[in-house]
Amino acid sequence: MSDDGAFTYHGGKVAPGERQNIRYGISETYLGDPVRIPVSIINGEKPGPTVFISAAAHGDELNGIEVVREVAYEWDLSDLAGTLVCMPVLNVPGFLFQQRYLPIYDRDLNRSFPGRPDSTSAKRMAHRIFTNFIEPCDFGLDFHTSTRGRTNMLHVRADMSDDKVARLAQGFGTHVIIDSEGPSGSLRGEASRAGVPTITIEMGEAHRFQRVLIDEALAGVESVFAEYGLRKTTAVRWPGWRTIITGDQEKTWIRADAGGIVDMHFERGSLVHEGDPICTITNPFKDDNTFIEAPFTGLLVGLLENPVVYPGNPLCHLVALDDVTRRVVEQEQSPEHEHHT
Ligand SMILES: [Zn+2]
Repeated sequence: MSDDGAFTYHGGKVAPGERQNIRYGISETYLGDPVRIPVSIINGEKPGPTVFISAAAHGDELNGIEVVREVAYEWDLSDLAGTLVCMPVLNVPGFLFQQRYLPIYDRDLNRSFPGRPDSTSAKRMAHRIFTNFIEPCDFGLDFHTSTRGRTNMLHVRADMSDDKVARLAQGFGTHVIIDSEGPSGSLRGEASRAGVPTITIEMGEAHRFQRVLIDEALAGVESVFAEYGLRKTTAVRWPGWRTIITGDQEKTWIRADAGGIVDMHFERGSLVHEGDPICTITNPFKDDNTFIEAPFTGLLVGLLENPVVYPGNPLCHLVALDDVTRRVVEQEQSPEHEHHT
């Protein structure tokens, strides 16, 4: 931000009280045409933090696109105190192909940050995004979904050892926070290391708009805005229960030991007890079944959605809960609870 409260990027400036919807060039195609990403910069009349909100760094992860668009184009932002930098589709080449990676040598844009101006095509794109729209921000939210063929319950990934990141993660108000340092080259990791605290929000499946999750994520954004005073909203959201999953906590991706067709017996976010049959792997004749039992009591944070596996493919992501949290979740998920609420 410059002294007059304007947001500046290479080639432009957005003054307080102004909004710009731009298509910003980050590369060129084989035909020499520009590769441009949509960016909306909304500079509030009142001063406040500068926040980026981004989605589709993986081109087929769509839920976050709608979250960013509703914040940017449907919310009443007339009382905004601060600046929003909204990027609904970061990985435009991947988005056009509806695939995770950049189609150029299958590079992962989300392992190419902070980028370099003189390196691979992926790093050059990352550099353009990072220097213009990430580095000038005070913090950021980057939306993802599970990888194609899988789903996950809405949760936050954040480096909870960094106080500023932890404040942001808790402000979003999800039940589950997975504590991890962002991978090298990821937007979350590199932005946080560059002094722009950033969290990832994981929500649902690729290739879908899932309304329930989008609404939940919008409530999270609203809660973050309340936490940092960007908008006169209700209050910071308390999700009812919260678990922060650290490195030494019991959690596992349960993998298939048999190839086959999978019959899943639970939904994402379900609590399963030790010994519960999570799913059954069947052969084509349904006469040789492999039952997969929960090795411990925990929460199904991630699940297989496309019901076919080779041995070694992941079936579900199971995370243990502490006793207090487990009892709260048990009560919340009991059939009686449904009756009374
Ligand atoms: Zn992703």
